[in-house]
Amino acid sequence: MADSAAAFAPPACPAPDAGGTGYTAGGPGPSVLGDVIRERGQRSVFCGLTGIIWLHRKIQDAFFLIVGSRTCAHLMQSAAGVMIFAEPRFGTAILEERDLAGLADANDELDREVARLLERRPDIRLLFLVGSCPSEVIKLDLDRAAQRLSAAHAGRTRVLSYSGSGLDTTFTQGEDACLAALVPGLPAEAADAPPSLLVVGTLADVVEDQFARLFDALEIGPVRFLPARGADAMPAVGPNTRMLMAQPFLGETARLLERRGCALLRAPFPLGEEGTTLWLKAAADAFGVDPARFDAVTAPGRARARAALSRHTKILAGKRLTFLPDSQLEPPLARFLSRELDMTLVEVATPYVHRSLLAADLALLPEGTRLVEGQDLEPQLDRVRDTRPDLVVCGLGLANPLEAQGITTKWAIELVFTPIQGYDQAGDLAELFARPLTRSALLKV
Ligand code: SF4
Repeated sequence: MADSAAAFAPPACPAPDAGGTGYTAGGPGPSVLGDVIRERGQRSVFCGLTGIIWLHRKIQDAFFLIVGSRTCAHLMQSAAGVMIFAEPRFGTAILEERDLAGLADANDELDREVARLLERRPDIRLLFLVGSCPSEVIKLDLDRAAQRLSAAHAGRTRVLSYSGSGLDTTFTQGEDACLAALVPGLPAEAADAPPSLLVVGTLADVVEDQFARLFDALEIGPVRFLPARGADAMPAVGPNTRMLMAQPFLGETARLLERRGCALLRAPFPLGEEGTTLWLKAAADAFGVDPARFDAVTAPGRARARAALSRHTKILAGKRLTFLPDSQLEPPLARFLSRELDMTLVEVATPYVHRSLLAADLALLPEGTRLVEGQDLEPQLDRVRDTRPDLVVCGLGLANPLEAQGITTKWAIELVFTPIQGYDQAGDLAELFARPLTRSALLKV
């Protein structure tokens, strides 16, 4: 096993493609379940390792050690290349041929790599062992390794594990798996603790601070965020915790938090003026905030968001939009773009529909919206070619081929890397969709 934490890398693993190996339960082709069309076939997605790019920025004393191949290392180092100039907080313990062939004891080598890493980096308080396709293929038990290493380094570094494998995930599931790994170790809230609010999902620090100020002005509290910015500041949870989801792709994390007694507050996600208001309102209602106070506290933000959005309406209104399945943010984004910017939804495809988390957003989609769960790549691309939307939101691997056919695209992954939640980001979010349309209009002149 070799440590690649600081190595330079050639171009990224091209959109790791679960095609062929993607789930095909029930056979390929669409089936209609309620109002959602389910497709099972070839997929084109990035794997869950990608989540490390935003998670390592958030938990500032954590380290993500991928136990994987050179392909995994290349993907990560290319996607987050700027880190090679800094002290990286992720790296890859590379499984060599000897490990893969069973000629070396991968557990012994992993223990040695972790010991070397922690000796070099005493600042690491939380270490995630991140599983990959190769570690899963050789059935390396990273849960057990994490328990063993946690005991070995007790008192200074906690070790957890989760899977970022591309075999059965889409890229935002990496965050779900990471946060789900944190939940069992969260401290228990005292039985007589006052009600607390837990915001679940990684938000940029600037967005988190804005929301903290709004909750403070609404006199909602204590408010905690998962993940916290430091390993020792992870929130306590219990039956008095009300949880508000900040990201729609955290189904497993939400399930585990509910098992710890937390109560889910149902709301649309905080995208745009309407989404942010309804999201804050769900918390305000749960904490008995007076409606007049709510209106007074949120009015300035609502006005700023509306003014920022109006600058993009001229470009976006009436434009036809298709989402291909990638980030799992597709339903709330579709709700925002159709209701606040008058865009026309041709198709909204998303990798998974977490019905309980998305219920409020789905209820606000225009009637008759074509909502697709999963992917069958070729028929989906045929529909794009037939319907010729003005804009297609898709993964990196599909953007260039579609652009080559004269179809304007937006990379879905940008929507996860960019601060987009809250009133003060509503204009930036709209601009992310307006920019490619403006660029292609200029190119056509
Ligand atoms: S985890 Fe799998 S899909 Fe992701 S980079 Fe590694 S080999 Fe590729």
